Amino acid sequence: MAVPARRTSKTKKRLRRTHIKLDTPNLSACPNCGELRKSHVVCPNCGFYDGRQVVNTK
Ligand SMILES: [Zn+2]
Repeated sequence: MAVPARRTSKTKKRLRRTHIKLDTPNLSACPNCGELRKSHVVCPNCGFYDGRQVVNTK
C-alpha cells in the first residue's frame, strides 16, 4: 500500500481545508405561509408539505 513520503505540513493541511466550510442551507418561501423554509423539508412554521398539512401546529 502506498504511504506518504513525508508528513503534510500545517500550512499545506490548512490551505487544503480552506475549501471546507459551512454552507448556507437552500431556503425558499413556503407556498402556504410565506415563511422561509428549507427545500424538501416540512415547513417548521405551518407544518405544510406538498400542498397539504402533514404536521399539527395547533
Ligand atoms: Zn409554511
